[in-house]
Amino acid sequence: MRIVTSPEEMLRAVKEVKAAGRSVGLVPTMGYFHAGHLSLMRAARAENDFVVVSLFVNPTQFGPREDFKDYPRDLARDSEMAAEAGVDCVFHPRVEDMYPQPYLTYVEVEGVSEGLCGALRPGHFRGVATVVAKLFHIIPAHRTYFGLKDAQQVMVIRRMVEDLNFDIEIVACPTVREADGLAMSSRNIYLGEEERKAATVLYRSLRLAEEMAVAGEREAGKLVAAIRETIASEPLVEPEYVEVVDWGLLKPVERLEGQVLIALAARVGKARLIDNVILEIEGG
Ligand code: AMP
Repeated sequence: MRIVTSPEEMLRAVKEVKAAGRSVGLVPTMGYFHAGHLSLMRAARAENDFVVVSLFVNPTQFGPREDFKDYPRDLARDSEMAAEAGVDCVFHPRVEDMYPQPYLTYVEVEGVSEGLCGALRPGHFRGVATVVAKLFHIIPAHRTYFGLKDAQQVMVIRRMVEDLNFDIEIVACPTVREADGLAMSSRNIYLGEEERKAATVLYRSLRLAEEMAVAGEREAGKLVAAIRETIASEPLVEPEYVEVVDWGLLKPVERLEGQVLIALAARVGKARLIDNVILEIEGG
């Protein structure tokens, strides 16, 4: 497996692969791999001749008081895991090569970036859209793989690809969870033992809401209240938002119909965790 740090060299390598008539799959990541990342790599491996994983802790998507400096990094371990997953190439650029100074150009996706995490992390999705647009140019892949754990991110990237005519297929992959339901995240290492146990309330509360919907509840407010009540039973978990939105433009809904996203974010100790479920409501 090759590790490439220069954007120019990366583009050259992908052009050569494509010129030989081979398909290319891209998995954008910030590294510190877990089974969620590996599931994206395996999906990419199954559907493409050449798989590139980008590994870049992107400074423009972190706010000034967020964890950019502390974000876990371990290139040696990540490279080993990627090689085992059958990845052909890891793209690991330096910040100064991705954002040479002066750097003045950003991608802003309106609407879908503004609610949920966007409301609490100003500039976050602008940083995400910008770095992903850059990655799509440096690695002009046929397909790219994103996890539904970051559901809003999937919608932001889908809109950007549609609105800016990127020629790439987005494959959204299901959330991979620990045995007790906690969504895998590189940030789970911030959790102490008690916090780690308490964090399981997040998915439990989402499952409860899902069961209510399956049983016929159609009032979004009732689901939100049930989720909040469940989370309140864990004093170590401080919810930031709990929302029901349509799985399209991510606008809040009052009644459940069609495809809806139930999404939440919470603080657990030093960690900010997110989770969600997507429901398909039949018959309104
Ligand atoms: P990150 O390195 O956290 O930026 O994530 C890189 C990619 O992996 C993103 O598309 C995430 O949505 C995806 N991802 C992260 N955690 C999970 C998970 N638990 N299950 C599935 N995909 C995930």
